[in-house]
Amino acid sequence: MRLRSLGAALTVTGSAHLLSVDGGVAGAQVLFDCGLFQGEAELEARNREAFPFDPAELAAVVLTHAHLDHVGRLPLLVRRGYRGPVYCTAPTAALAETVLLDSARLQVEGYRHALRRARREGREGEVPEPLYDEADVHRTLDLLRPTLRFGDTARVGPLRVTPGRAGHILGSASLLVEHAGERLLLSGDLGNRGSGLQLDFEPPPPADAVVLEATYAGRTHRAWPGTRAEFADVLRDSVRAGGKILIPTFALERAQLILATLRDLMESGEVPRIPVFLDSPMAARATRAYFEYGAELVPPVREALARGEDPFRPSTLHVVPTGAESRRLHRYDGPAIILAGNGMMTGGRIGHHLRCHLGKSSTRLVIVSYQSPGSLGGRILAGAPRVQIMGEEVEVRARVHTIGGFSAHADQDDLLAFLASTGTPRVWLVHGEVEVMEGFLPVLAARGLTANLMPDHHPVDPLTTTFPGGRPPGLRDGDRPVRVRDE
Ligand SMILES: [Zn+2]
Repeated sequence: MRLRSLGAALTVTGSAHLLSVDGGVAGAQVLFDCGLFQGEAELEARNREAFPFDPAELAAVVLTHAHLDHVGRLPLLVRRGYRGPVYCTAPTAALAETVLLDSARLQVEGYRHALRRARREGREGEVPEPLYDEADVHRTLDLLRPTLRFGDTARVGPLRVTPGRAGHILGSASLLVEHAGERLLLSGDLGNRGSGLQLDFEPPPPADAVVLEATYAGRTHRAWPGTRAEFADVLRDSVRAGGKILIPTFALERAQLILATLRDLMESGEVPRIPVFLDSPMAARATRAYFEYGAELVPPVREALARGEDPFRPSTLHVVPTGAESRRLHRYDGPAIILAGNGMMTGGRIGHHLRCHLGKSSTRLVIVSYQSPGSLGGRILAGAPRVQIMGEEVEVRARVHTIGGFSAHADQDDLLAFLASTGTPRVWLVHGEVEVMEGFLPVLAARGLTANLMPDHHPVDPLTTTFPGGRPPGLRDGDRPVRVRDE
């Protein structure tokens, strides 16, 4: 096996891992995930680069889950010639449709907006085309093969692939990949055990090598009861302050977890019943899949679904359908909870709510998901006194709360628990910030595991490769990670 990471290597976004094996005349290449780079402009520019392989020659694509940073370059792959199957679980296919259509809409809207501005400045030739449009997404959706089931082994080209529940979002899977007696486990994104919505990940089978996500390898999350209590405290304090409670939310999983928790806290009387505005039609659409695939959810939510209740609907919920109605919320007086995307505050309707409310000391900004350091959310978290929002400078006077226990990602204990059943595999870390992953290496070494950071664009044999000096290409002491160019 030769593995080459084309995204989420030495960074947290753009997951795409190309596996090549011998077999047949030319061998075969299978791509695991094909995610969009999100965050800083430098990262997003990577979405426009050519794939370092001919998309028409790939044997198959396999998805771990439907988050945009794992599926968002698929329509681009199809636009550039891929016509083969895209294997995934059924919930991943359902959610990928929502995610990709939304992404195409954002691409096209962003392009039109940039074009209007460029025309005024007489430089419309400089605006890059949208990465893809809705037609590309529909061609992509036609290729989805939602045939993967947890625990069942499937044939994918020359590989045997067995998905296991990853407990991260609905349909998320870890993948055991077998070929010629070698066993490679791709963790995909792993869930935070004991969270309020998804069942925990299943202990994976033994493997010779593991590609392990490491987003929160340097942290320990608070256990769920503490997280729930912390959220209730923040909400009560916010209601007393009398302002808006802004919760930037990703439409998948965060939104449903927050809604289910709000309903629970309001029903039990722990938090006053104030209006909840779900300002994300995409989150409302994604929630439908949770009704269909409730078997993956924790017992209280599953049981509410079985009783015919809607566990994602606090009694004070209003779904805000249009952008105009979203902006009219500025005139709404009194305390209210506003959930809007996107989760890292880099775009979407949360932008104008932040512009309107971030400067008020009565506002509470509740952060419930990962914030990349370069994003608006990352800058606010780092304590920036003023930030630029939609071309306007806004003073940060709102109180900012971070509730780490809402994370959809495994913490260090979870990651070690995941590895516990795998034997003594070689471990390759992906999907993490370099400093965090480097800090995790000694922890793995103390458990007798040989581990390293997955290099970017540099092929490795996951079972045997070592590097001179121990550090992967593209990393030098004291440097920011350097991109290894295609050979
Ligand atoms: Zn994810």
